[in-house]
Amino acid sequence: MKYIVWACLFLGSLSGYTQIKTAKPDIVLVVHGGAGTILKSQMTPELEKAYTDGLTEALKKGYSILEKGGTSLDAVEAAVKLLEDNPLFNAGKGAVFTNEGKNELDASIMDGKTLAAGAVAGVTTVKNPIAAARAVMEKSNHVMMTGAGADKFAAQAGLEIVDPSYFFTEQRWKALQEVKKEDSTKTELDHSGKKSSSYHFINKDSKFGTVGAVALDQSGNLAAATSTGGMTNKRFGRVGDSTIIGAGTYASNNTCAISCTGWGEYYIRLVMAKTISDMMEFGKMTLKNAASEMLMKRLPALGGDGGLIAVDGKGNIAMPFNTEGMYRGFMKDGKITVKIYKD
Ligand code: ASP
Repeated sequence: MKYIVWACLFLGSLSGYTQIKTAKPDIVLVVHGGAGTILKSQMTPELEKAYTDGLTEALKKGYSILEKGGTSLDAVEAAVKLLEDNPLFNAGKGAVFTNEGKNELDASIMDGKTLAAGAVAGVTTVKNPIAAARAVMEKSNHVMMTGAGADKFAAQAGLEIVDPSYFFTEQRWKALQEVKKEDSTKTELDHSGKKSSSYHFINKDSKFGTVGAVALDQSGNLAAATSTGGMTNKRFGRVGDSTIIGAGTYASNNTCAISCTGWGEYYIRLVMAKTISDMMEFGKMTLKNAASEMLMKRLPALGGDGGLIAVDGKGNIAMPFNTEGMYRGFMKDGKITVKIYKD
């Protein structure tokens, strides 16, 4: 009798264990299309729909990969690729122009399971910079490649190469001319129109649209990806946070996956994404509290602005921003939520 009781207890605990082991975490995909001065009063219903459709399409694409048991890495790459191909967003086609009238693109990707990461900065010919970042991660011994070398590497990796004119859009070109005009008359103004000491990017709607995605897959693995044209009128060789692991992009299964958008110089100085992860890992803070502390307090205290998207290992989502709006959305439990303005 005693043996039968023990056997039952053993089998019971075994089946309980099996249940725990096979319980799949909720899959989650979050995307952003940039944060900034996005006001309803300045938006047409057509444009609003175009942005919403673009984010929805990216969410559906990435989520379908997660649903089929695909990896969070594949999901974030696929979602970001679609946003890069959409000229509305400041990444890939439709990227903003540098002061010299060029499109120089930055992107990065990170695998939360292995902490593997890849990044490219200042590329000008690879159609999808996020694919180049992934190639750096998977097909080289490096984490970051820049400029002509990164373009060459992308071509050798078999990625689609385009003429730099592919990235041109009339709207971004006009924006550069406007910013330059303002810049020459108001060189003392900064990103948000306030007095500034050195940098004087002008806070134009035209610069917004950096894209990013974070995901949690069925195996419980997190991943993050970010891609951008940077900031309108950026100077030669300027590199923003979007391509810097720990600043604009970070993922660790121990904590969360994060993709940022905003005034990159401040995100770099705050080591934004990794600091939030550290606050969770070492400070035992929740994702919501850590992200809010950094984004709503530390960032504006330094003079920066922007937003971020994040998901933790349990599927909790955070999408804080301290600007008027942020193109953002998430898909969870098969349901899509897309937002542009403050709630
Ligand atoms: N963070 C990007 C950069 O500084 C720009 C943006 O997100 O709007 O390059």
